[in-house]
Amino acid sequence: MSDQLIQFVRDYFGTNEFIPLHAPVFPGREKEYVADTIESTFVSSVGAYVDRFEQDMASYTGSPKAVATVNGTAALHIALKLAGVEAGDLVITQPLTFVATCNAIAYCNAEPVFIDVDRDTLGLSAKALEAWLEEHANLDSEGVCRTRTDNKVVRACVPMHTFGHPADLDRLVSVTRRWNIALIEDAAESLGSYYKGQHTGTFGVLGTLSFNGNKIMTTGGGGMILTGEALETRAKHLTTTAKKPHPFEYIHDELGYNYRLPNLNAALGCAQMEQLETFIEAKRALAGSYEGLFSGTNLEFVKEPAECRSNYWLNAVICDDKAHRDELLEATNQQGVMTRPIWALMNHLVMYQSCRRGDLSNAEWLEARVVNLPSSVVTK
Ligand SMILES: *Cc1c(COP(=O)(O)O)cnc(C)c1O
Repeated sequence: MSDQLIQFVRDYFGTNEFIPLHAPVFPGREKEYVADTIESTFVSSVGAYVDRFEQDMASYTGSPKAVATVNGTAALHIALKLAGVEAGDLVITQPLTFVATCNAIAYCNAEPVFIDVDRDTLGLSAKALEAWLEEHANLDSEGVCRTRTDNKVVRACVPMHTFGHPADLDRLVSVTRRWNIALIEDAAESLGSYYKGQHTGTFGVLGTLSFNGNKIMTTGGGGMILTGEALETRAKHLTTTAKKPHPFEYIHDELGYNYRLPNLNAALGCAQMEQLETFIEAKRALAGSYEGLFSGTNLEFVKEPAECRSNYWLNAVICDDKAHRDELLEATNQQGVMTRPIWALMNHLVMYQSCRRGDLSNAEWLEARVVNLPSSVVTK
């Protein structure tokens, strides 16, 4: 099968050179908009492109408000703070994610709790979440979710939409509501992905996006906080050093962060936004071709969950077992077709190995079997 895969990828991408997992493309007005910021001298954190990029992103996702940040990790860090996460709190997330999800939790001096994922979505399992809460938590007299043994507050829950495939949002919304836990979606990988017609990142109190160079569209580096009217002002305040508006004085009324997206990057983002639908069509066409290639073989292609429209940011297959996975990785990478295993589980990393966790059978099963395939945009 690896020979057929290599041939398919070479034909599809039309090259005998090295084929990366994901490379950005700039087919639109990127150069024009970036040059415009240089000509205007507004390259930094003030400028018309930042405002436009935020408005574009709010209207595209259907989020009431969107606040741009320097990267997706910073967006998550501030989203957690806005949800009231404090030192010593617990924040539930999945072990199968990129390290940024957990790092943002750790930046708040809070502790991640790892709960299993579903096999079909690769995202946080609402069933596993509920089971863990029933076994380990209570609502106190004020309705705050606390652990039974050590009375820690379970403040927030951060599901991640893996490779762009939406997690089981209806059930995650209902479990987190019942347990009074703030839902924050890490939608870094799922710009352009919808769950029952609603854009990912808009189901909880906050959601975050990333525009890193390897995401479906890029600003070089960048991120976005999706939220409602109520938290927008504070999101902007915290990301701009908590400076109070004043014509000339420097007054900062709390600990703030220099997390605002520069205008230079936002200009790139505005141009990429104009191409986003084309990118998604190209991704979905490639996914459709991969699906055909793998049907009836011993590689299971990861498809969008029921009632969802995925952006298919990164295509993936599930191998029979770890040995099969390693064979595929060796054969393809040796031939200059880049493939990668899924991330090591977060609870296997030194920083997070002693964190609380539930049963992680599905995550462990997937960790040994999932391989990502070349997924760059090809316009035919
Ligand atoms: C890309 C990504 C982020 C944010 O990454 P930045 O590089 O900081 O923009 C966060 N979570 C996940 C799951 C990601 O894939």
